[in-house]
Amino acid sequence: MKSNRIRAKNHPKFSRREFLTHSSLLVLAAATGCKSGEWEGNDAIIDIHQHLGYSGRPDDVLLAHQRAMGVSKTILLPAGRPINSASTHEGISNGLQANCLGNEACYQFAKAHSGDYFFGANEVPDLPDATLEIEKYLKLGGAIIAEQKFGIECDSQQMQKIYHLAAEFRVPVLMHWQVKMYNYGFERFHKMLERFPRTIFIGHAQTWWANIDKNYKDDASNLYPKGPVTPGGLTDRYLGDYANMYGDLSAGSGLNALTRDEDHTRDFLNRHQNKLIYGSDCNDHVGSGSVCQGALTIAAVRRLAPTMKIQRKLLCGNARRVFKLG
Ligand SMILES: [Zn+2]
Ligand SMILES: [Zn+2]
Repeated sequence: MKSNRIRAKNHPKFSRREFLTHSSLLVLAAATGCKSGEWEGNDAIIDIHQHLGYSGRPDDVLLAHQRAMGVSKTILLPAGRPINSASTHEGISNGLQANCLGNEACYQFAKAHSGDYFFGANEVPDLPDATLEIEKYLKLGGAIIAEQKFGIECDSQQMQKIYHLAAEFRVPVLMHWQVKMYNYGFERFHKMLERFPRTIFIGHAQTWWANIDKNYKDDASNLYPKGPVTPGGLTDRYLGDYANMYGDLSAGSGLNALTRDEDHTRDFLNRHQNKLIYGSDCNDHVGSGSVCQGALTIAAVRRLAPTMKIQRKLLCGNARRVFKLG
């Protein structure tokens, strides 16, 4: 904590605004339960991908769900404001297509559960005041810009403004990649990774995970490919080639990628052990067993991570580092 402050003060490019935001993130450092050097025997889990009001789930059920999964810290990713436009597919994508609540609700919930819950900042990127709205919640302590799940080109001017804002506030941007639906142009995304080296990008969802396989061709009717994986797909290369590209293990797509070819998964987890971060993104009311995709993902990571140290990085350590949790 202290060293962060010293670094912030001495950093010549660290503006006052960045410093204030960074300081608010330091709240996240309190008792995360996965300090470096304490890997073995520590079962703390950070979930970087949950939603409030997800498919209508009540708040008390969310709290119980996260406890049942064994999660100690949760980041809530808000939706943008509800609007009918091309980028929300005339309203279909409002509430992240799952009735998820927005910035103010996530902020208030995190405030009421301070230390256990954190919040992101989000907006429909092609609204004229999108960056102003996002900035408002980053100033209040938002830990990430997410979930970016809109029908828009990944290299549009509007998205580039968001990438710039993320670098300015030193928070990651999490993007839902789904061909012909959300964040278009995955094959061109390397240009953004190069243009915004100070922005941390976290990849998520079907098109992100399907492209671990070199032999996969983008296909909206084949979003959960099964069977053996040939290394060297676009996702594998983005993770390997770009220091600012990370991956979110959440959702059915993340779980499918982990379980479709377990021999490949062991190598993949080893190869990208500093880049992959646990998230659940599950909307069930239970938090355990086969109905809970988040619990299944935790079990897959525990089963397939080549070492205990790597397991701890994936479930906790990488999140702690990327979100500056101390
Ligand atoms: Zn989500
Ligand atoms: Zn669940």
